[in-house]
Amino acid sequence: MKTIGKINRIIKERELLKSRNLTIGFVPTMGYLHNGHISLVRKAKSISDRVIVSIFINPIQFGKNEDLSKYPRSLESDKKKLDEEKVDILFYPSQNEMYKDRITKVSAIKHRPILCEKTRPDHFDGVLTVVAKLFNIISPDFAFFGEKDFQQLFLVTKMTKDLNFNLKIIPCPIVREKDKLAMSSRNVYLSSKERSEAPIIYNTLLYAKKLFVEGVEPKKIEEIAKKLIEENSSGKVDYIKIYDGKTLDEVSENSRDYRIFAAVWFGKTRLIDNIRVIK
Ligand code: AMP
Repeated sequence: MKTIGKINRIIKERELLKSRNLTIGFVPTMGYLHNGHISLVRKAKSISDRVIVSIFINPIQFGKNEDLSKYPRSLESDKKKLDEEKVDILFYPSQNEMYKDRITKVSAIKHRPILCEKTRPDHFDGVLTVVAKLFNIISPDFAFFGEKDFQQLFLVTKMTKDLNFNLKIIPCPIVREKDKLAMSSRNVYLSSKERSEAPIIYNTLLYAKKLFVEGVEPKKIEEIAKKLIEENSSGKVDYIKIYDGKTLDEVSENSRDYRIFAAVWFGKTRLIDNIRVIK
């Protein structure tokens, strides 16, 4: 695997691949790789001729009081994992390389504020800006995003269409630990007590799904789910919310495909998860 930090170098590599008519699959990450990331890499390997993974802890998607400086890092073990998966290129740019003298950002106009945007203002502008830059730098044929970060996947898909990026976004299912906690680089922050409590998020989503299928009102379900989590664990609910899964609009009579979203604080760690419901 080649590791490349400079934009002009990776553009040369990409042009070489294109001149040979090879398709490029791209997996953007912030590193500290776990099996959720690896599932994206494997999907990328399965449908692209060459796979590029980026590791970039994107400073502009972190809020002022968030965990940028403490965000977990493990470059050497990440490289080993990617090597084992036979990834072709790791793009590992510096902050300076990506953002020196920047005056531009990409911003979603309609879906704000949605869910996470309330607690994390500017987060999605930071995400869309870095993803747009990475798409221009890598020029992939396919880009792979996890449903774990469903709002991110939704906004990136819309941006790709709105800004006419010539590539296909491939959604990938959520990978979970044995006890069904969604894998996340942030799980490492949990104390052992919090870690043992955290599967309550997914279990509550399953219960919320059951109630929803039975016809209970979304508002009522959101209340019940919040109470369940807060009375049975140390978790503090940021939101539990049911949206139309295709549009992320409020549920309407026309909806058939839904998503139930959860964000829960365990101490200083905010965990997110979601589940699909088709009715
Ligand atoms: P991150 O490194 O957290 O920015 O995540 C990079 C990519 O991996 C994003 O597309 C995430 O949605 C995806 N991802 C993270 N955790 C999981 C998971 N448990 N299952 C599937 N995809 C994931």
